[in-house]
Amino acid sequence: MKSTKRIIITTVICAGIAALAYYAWMFSFYQFETNDFSTSIEKIMSFDYLATLVPLFIIAGLAAAGIIHVVILRRALAKTDKKHSHFADVRTGRQKGAAPKQRPVLFMILRWIAMIAFSFIMIWGGLIFGMKMSSLSIPVLSCPWNTEQMTESSCYYLSHLNELFELPWQSILVFLASTIGFIILLGRAICGFLCPIGLIQDIMDKIRRKTKTEGIKMNEKMYGAAAPVRWFMVLVFTGLCFAGGNFCNFCPAVAVSPILAGMSTSLYVSGFLMILVLMGGFFKRRAFCMVCPLGTIMGFFHKISLFRIKKDTQSCTECGACYEACPMGIKMIYTEREKVNVTSANCIMCGECIRCCPEDKALFMTCAGIKLYTSSRKTIMSGYKPDKTGRYER
Ligand code: SF4
Ligand code: SF4
Ligand code: SF4
Repeated sequence: MKSTKRIIITTVICAGIAALAYYAWMFSFYQFETNDFSTSIEKIMSFDYLATLVPLFIIAGLAAAGIIHVVILRRALAKTDKKHSHFADVRTGRQKGAAPKQRPVLFMILRWIAMIAFSFIMIWGGLIFGMKMSSLSIPVLSCPWNTEQMTESSCYYLSHLNELFELPWQSILVFLASTIGFIILLGRAICGFLCPIGLIQDIMDKIRRKTKTEGIKMNEKMYGAAAPVRWFMVLVFTGLCFAGGNFCNFCPAVAVSPILAGMSTSLYVSGFLMILVLMGGFFKRRAFCMVCPLGTIMGFFHKISLFRIKKDTQSCTECGACYEACPMGIKMIYTEREKVNVTSANCIMCGECIRCCPEDKALFMTCAGIKLYTSSRKTIMSGYKPDKTGRYER
């Protein structure tokens, strides 16, 4: 009875937070009278900048409140019904079988440095580099790249195809060359190394691990269910403009990068969706990436991009650790028995599979054929310490 009461109270609080988050755009501090896309170094150094950031604080606060209440609700449910603990992520909690902590790997350190540096450039790059770079199309959530307006990123034109064809042909060529160039050169390494929304989700995942909170363990069926959502998102992303709509009004990234760049943009549904992205990223690593339309579009080019995940099928023992570690639930990386190239369209090049592969040189990442990161038994063993009898236990 006590747990039922707790579940009801928590559900009501969760519903309240969701309603508050959804209707937050109606509050005056959340909606600016006029969208002001201008930004400057002076603006972000002034008191006005803090006022611009208020919606971001609200989003972070509501996401934190939502996460706390979901955790409470889950604990109450797990007490009354043991089958709910099935969704606990045994790899990341305190439970038996949790992955050992390895010594830091250079690849991962560099990936984090790249993500932070590129996010900084994408948010404040327009201010730093100025208009010289404004015609370069960057294929990820880069609305504030340009100091003058939000119309030069590939992200914008991919979601406003109707406007793209009205541009002078030179601009269309620049758009196509820089977008396709970036995608061919980097592929979905953009997701693993550059995207600010990817960084935010990885930070949420780190917070969950540090707070020893159980994540959500997805099974194949759940990963399969994400596929139609992904295609629906691509359809909405590219097609809404022809129906008189605008994907930017829904894009969760609008609630972060333009605001941080000092633009006063009304958030509407974007703010609410950003709360879901933060909560999703907390409980399931890169949850939004599983349905991101931009990521899916970049995935179309995975066969020609320079980055690859490769496998030495002779060294692979089919242990499944790579599948367990993969935030995108890519199974073929461990089931493939013939092909060396195991790069999937959904692979975000995060390198987690390689980090967790216990076989020397069984799995590796290459760029233009050059090995960037290789699985190592020694690194895996660095997480284990011998006990008094010399046996390796955690
Ligand atoms: S899938 Fe989308 S949100 Fe995720 S890292 Fe790639 S571009 Fe960013
Ligand atoms: S296959 Fe490996 S590199 Fe690709 S998303 Fe999964 S864990 Fe990351
Ligand atoms: S973790 Fe390594 S050894 Fe295990 S299945 Fe994957 S590639 Fe094979």
